[in-house]
Amino acid sequence: MRIISSAAAMQKFALQWKSAGVKIGFVPTMGYLHTGHLSLVRTARKRVGPKGKVVVSIYVNPTQFAPTEDLSKYPRDLKRDLKLCREAGVDIVFTPGDAEMYPGKAEGNYSTYVVEENLGRVMEGASRPTHFRGVTTVVAKLFNIVLPDVSVFGQKDFQQAAIIQRMTRDLNFPVKIIIAPTLRERDGLAMSSRNKYLMGDLRRQATVLWCALQIAKWLVEKSKSVSAADLKADLKKLIEIEPDAKLDYVEFFNPETLLPMAQVKRGTHMALAVFVGKTRLIDNAKL
Ligand code: AMP
Repeated sequence: MRIISSAAAMQKFALQWKSAGVKIGFVPTMGYLHTGHLSLVRTARKRVGPKGKVVVSIYVNPTQFAPTEDLSKYPRDLKRDLKLCREAGVDIVFTPGDAEMYPGKAEGNYSTYVVEENLGRVMEGASRPTHFRGVTTVVAKLFNIVLPDVSVFGQKDFQQAAIIQRMTRDLNFPVKIIIAPTLRERDGLAMSSRNKYLMGDLRRQATVLWCALQIAKWLVEKSKSVSAADLKADLKKLIEIEPDAKLDYVEFFNPETLLPMAQVKRGTHMALAVFVGKTRLIDNAKL
């Protein structure tokens, strides 16, 4: 396994593989890898086959964090990540630094961003207004550096995956986007690098996101159609029974358009964001 931090060197490998007809599978991450990330790596390997190449990027992208967010505290353990990637059969880990990804930014002369103008307005985009601009920019740059044939994203970040699909279509990136299922802990909590922040009882309280999804599913099965406003109010009460949980949003929406639905039925998608202590967790599921 090679570890590359230069964008030009990474691109050179990708161009060589491309000209030799070798398929490239790509999994972008911010590191602190867990089983969920590794499942995306397995999916990428399946897609490109034993002769293909799998690239994982590990980069905590500063442009997707607001100044008030956890950029400096974001968990990192490159040594462990590299070991996991090696064991998972990754061919290249691309770990650029900020100067490599955003040349000139420290001096104020990095000036090109990619903005998706529709799907990114609601939910995560409403709560974190600069977040998706950072995500689309870094993913577009990574696509240009890694030149993947397929790239795998997690359904855990449902809105992010939808926006990446839209960007790929709108900007004609020759990449097939694959969305892989969310891996969970035994108690239902979606795996996330941020779960490391959940100390003591906060870890137990964090299962409230999974409980809210299960209760919404059950209600929709029982009643066929439920008012979104009523369900939101009930779920807020349920979630905030936990002493350190505070609902940021819960939304019911059409999974294609991300448009909110007034009536919640089977097949409606639900997404929620909850602060558990200071940690902001997200989850989603089809009801
Ligand atoms: P991150 O490192 O959190 O930016 O995530 C990198 C990729 O892993 C994204 O496509 C995420 O959606 C995906 N991912 C994160 N958590 C999970 C999970 N629990 N199961 C599957 N994929 C995940």
